[in-house]
Amino acid sequence: MLLATSFTVMNIGAHVRGGGKLTPSLDAGVEIGATSIQIFTQSPRMWKPSLYEDKVLANFREAQAAHPTIKDTFCHATYLINLASPNKELYEKSILCLTTNLTVGRGMGAKGVVVHTGSHMGEGFEKALPQIAEAFMRALDGAGKSPKGVDDCPILIENTAGAGGTVGRSFDEIEAMINACGKDERLGLCIDTQHLWASGFDFSTLEGAKQLVKEVDSRIGMDRLKCFHLNDSKIELGGNKDRHANIDEGTIGSKGLAALMGHPKIRNIPMLLEVPGDGDGPRAVDVKKAEKTYAQGLAMYGVSAKPTSSKVKSVTKKAAPKKAAAVKKPATKKPAVKKAAVKKTTKKK
Ligand SMILES: [Zn+2]
Ligand SMILES: [Zn+2]
Repeated sequence: MLLATSFTVMNIGAHVRGGGKLTPSLDAGVEIGATSIQIFTQSPRMWKPSLYEDKVLANFREAQAAHPTIKDTFCHATYLINLASPNKELYEKSILCLTTNLTVGRGMGAKGVVVHTGSHMGEGFEKALPQIAEAFMRALDGAGKSPKGVDDCPILIENTAGAGGTVGRSFDEIEAMINACGKDERLGLCIDTQHLWASGFDFSTLEGAKQLVKEVDSRIGMDRLKCFHLNDSKIELGGNKDRHANIDEGTIGSKGLAALMGHPKIRNIPMLLEVPGDGDGPRAVDVKKAEKTYAQGLAMYGVSAKPTSSKVKSVTKKAAPKKAAAVKKPATKKPAVKKAAVKKTTKKK
């Protein structure tokens, strides 16, 4: 497996189904050829927390180690969270929910929990800033600790498309939030390409991509940028709406995404697809398209795409059935997970 890291290999991941036992998500990722995954650890549109026994979390970490083609796992926090809400009850509920999400992420050994900060509902960003900072700190300090020997799991603030009173619509706002938390190391950044485009940032040329890296580096620090959400856009640049499109089927296009993906400072950051696919999320064909776009991006910077190590390739290939989307559903519901996940991978090799 070491071979793979000696090449410039893009880490193309995807949002997949988590399921109550968590481990099926790894197989779901393998099935579509993803090399990272993102999951919800509880229903994203419900407050009801999913609490996992330590054993389930430990099983996940074991299963992750047994799936060497899946490098990183990210969690996406519940959509209902609003750390900027002027409603005290909603605010407290949001902190509790984020804390639970983070506890699970830490227990899983995830690389980060991506969160939408929320909306100030017209009250203004400046007014909401202190309560947002308090919320982040309370969640970071209040969540269960990472198990021994497991890297800490940061909260990753996601940029928004810029609609209404959403918070995190610019790097100015994200920088202000991190600063208000005393630049706590446990806060990071996730950039959604569709949201960035919709917020009016044109990164679709070599110059634009360079500008993006410059902005992030000077305001937030590239080391805080832990992942991208890789999506094309159904709406135009500056349209301020959150509408994901499949790669090369939107207004950014593969060439625009390639300029970003090929940038030397971005190449090795995990790219997580959240594209609609056929309506059921990212498919194997979407991962392939993203890989092609990456190769296109490298070429724009004068680098030729290197093959992945043959070992990794063969695992990915055999693991990806032709109708990945159709297999995805039952796979997440498969009851035999504990040791089966480990055995399965061995078989696939
Ligand atoms: Zn998101
Ligand atoms: Zn979105």
